[in-house]
Amino acid sequence: MLYAVISDVHSNLEALYAVIEDIRKRNIEKILFLGDAVGYGPNPNECIELLKKECLVLLAGNHDRAVTGDTPLDRFNENARAAVQWTIEHITGEHLEFLGKLDILKVMEKDNLCLVHSTPKEPEAWRYIVTLNDAGVNFRYFEQKICLIGHSHTPFIMEKRPSGELILYKDRVTFSEAARYIINAGSVGQPRDRDPRAAYAVLNAGEVEIIRVDYNFRETQRKMREAGLPKFLIERLEKGI
Ligand code: ZN
Repeated sequence: MLYAVISDVHSNLEALYAVIEDIRKRNIEKILFLGDAVGYGPNPNECIELLKKECLVLLAGNHDRAVTGDTPLDRFNENARAAVQWTIEHITGEHLEFLGKLDILKVMEKDNLCLVHSTPKEPEAWRYIVTLNDAGVNFRYFEQKICLIGHSHTPFIMEKRPSGELILYKDRVTFSEAARYIINAGSVGQPRDRDPRAAYAVLNAGEVEIIRVDYNFRETQRKMREAGLPKFLIERLEKGI
């Protein structure tokens, strides 16, 4: 088992290209995508095209579901809502249909993996795993050794030991045989951990590592300005917030 795990691309083509190039350099062939292809950024169609071509598994996130009309917009803040609205106006019918067919959770039994954009508990409620308590609850809602998530745009690795003890790691862990894990791969297209570099995870049977990749966010910002997307969404890319 050797996978690159990517999430939350959010129509950021420059970040997605940079991450795929980094994945290729490492000779990793299989990419798992955990959702939110669109929303926020200026290149929804190009990102969906590239994700379709490159990824073995693709899930939908809350922004994808909002664009297809399957999640109500009133749960989004003003900027996110404006970006969803902009995406609805610019996405092709074919890509919209493609997004509408994606699942929000997938189990890969052979690899002992559960994949979900938000949380294994009630994934359609789009809640976040932020605290140790959130993680503790969610460990009861999947059976596999590892659950891969995105959604919060903040990478982390949470380990649950057989004793029940929960340990938080920042960017790398060697798996211990009896423990289970929730791994947040971070965000390709809009990192929020005060590091503007694109984030993704490299996973094999023995370990996981969070990787950071520089990309030309100035170009993404230029396109966002041209598209008339909200200022806050443009500025946050250089700050990683
Ligand atoms: Zn997202």
